[in-house]
Amino acid sequence: MDSQQFREFGKAAVDYIADYLETVEERPVVAGVAPGYLEKLIPEEPPQAGEKWQEVLQDVDRIIMPGITHWTSPHFHAFFPTASSFPSIVGEMLSAGFGCVGLSWVASPAYTELEVVMMNWLGKLLGLPEEFLNCSEGPGGGVIQGSASETTFVALLAAKEKTVRDIQKLHPELSEAEIKGKLVAYSSNQSNSSVEKSGLLGSMPMRLLPVDEKGQLRGDALEEAIRKDKEQGLIPCYVVANLGTTPTCAFDKLEELGPVCQRENVWLHIDAAYAGSAFACPEYRYLMKGVEYADSFNFNPHKWMLVNFDCSAMWVRDARHLVEAFNVERIYLKDQHKGLAPEYRHWQISLGRRFRALKLWFVLRIYGVDGIQKHIRHQISLAQRFEELVRGDQRFEVCSSSMGLVCFKLKGDDALTVKLLERVQQRKKIYVIAGHFGESHVIRFAVCSRLTEKRHVDYAWNEFASQADEILGCKVERKSDISIEISNARCQKINDIEKSK
Ligand SMILES: *Cc1c(COP(=O)(O)O)cnc(C)c1O
Repeated sequence: MDSQQFREFGKAAVDYIADYLETVEERPVVAGVAPGYLEKLIPEEPPQAGEKWQEVLQDVDRIIMPGITHWTSPHFHAFFPTASSFPSIVGEMLSAGFGCVGLSWVASPAYTELEVVMMNWLGKLLGLPEEFLNCSEGPGGGVIQGSASETTFVALLAAKEKTVRDIQKLHPELSEAEIKGKLVAYSSNQSNSSVEKSGLLGSMPMRLLPVDEKGQLRGDALEEAIRKDKEQGLIPCYVVANLGTTPTCAFDKLEELGPVCQRENVWLHIDAAYAGSAFACPEYRYLMKGVEYADSFNFNPHKWMLVNFDCSAMWVRDARHLVEAFNVERIYLKDQHKGLAPEYRHWQISLGRRFRALKLWFVLRIYGVDGIQKHIRHQISLAQRFEELVRGDQRFEVCSSSMGLVCFKLKGDDALTVKLLERVQQRKKIYVIAGHFGESHVIRFAVCSRLTEKRHVDYAWNEFASQADEILGCKVERKSDISIEISNARCQKINDIEKSK
């Protein structure tokens, strides 16, 4: 392919993306294919002779599109958002165009230097303590990782190295292996699965501690667990606190956990993967009170801040702990710029690095702080609208509502909620997933897509209400105005059908 053909192919692809996003709302939000569907549509061997790009692009429509679940659809309300925006898509494209591997400063200075500045912009946007920023006097700094999972694991490895060194200072008679065999980590039982996985990968038992009735991990639960472990001769090493849990978007009590970690010399990592974006709005910053106790802090701009996957922002209070855990020197990595710019390869697992800072720069400049705040506030207001609609219907109850996430159920037996969810999932008009609240089965409704508007929230509610009508019958009165209208009309219709039978 020459550059002329690239111009044509690239422009056609951009048109394809724009058409797709303009019409995504009309597609069934969940792919309707069965496992193994794709193998049947594709030859078993790669083509001997190269093919035309036009044919390839046509096959995207024919083979790939049916197997896409439309995360950008305004009817997608499952999991958490994964961000997508035009400035970010273009940022991805340009970074592919440069085609560098940022394995050191000199391997592409702009890669490192833009990342340094972007992590400062982002830290200021969230109102993080100054000492986490690259521009502070101290050893703190920010880096872009691929995912929150990676970040939790990287922080665990740094905590492990630090603890081994700290303990060896006090007990020179203990070997590294002896110390490592005694280390323990803690998080709440509401943590993302990736937290448990980081313990597995890092060979450190991860205690998943009970939470209070609001889903928050409290200081006393941590204190108690640490006390028990110390009695057994174990060494507390690492705590992962959640700001915005995956099940209900609950916020652990940092103000209580922080002092315990400080007293016990335990590394405190904060997983704010989803909800961290909300701290761009000052009115939500009270939820991160106690952040100053953290050793590391992470959130995903690729979730709620309009930057396409992958882009996970991590800050550390003292970057030397990362570098000491990850630094291996080789002759081909020697360069003369030591100390002037961070060598980010020592802050992460892989050697090579993508130019993720570029798409972040595009989003921050083209949306501006105002645009990002508006996006977050709008999505939270949509979730609040949904919550009101649920509360307006006596058959339902809201179990939790936080940020852009509402967990709710039908009153009465859990089986009813399970049935409702199954029906809604089968119909594929909207996409939601199951959750748990305490012992109850709930439906998790998240406002995910940048394209979601009030009418999509009403559409989703109508889907739940109408399916509930079918499961329960339609005799219950509704409080909320729109549901009364819709439901009266529907009940009338059902009654007419009943009568005519
Ligand atoms: C989504 C999420 C994760 C996982 O994020 P990845 O970037 O996909 O690894 C971890 N923790 C929380 C709280 C999350 O919401």
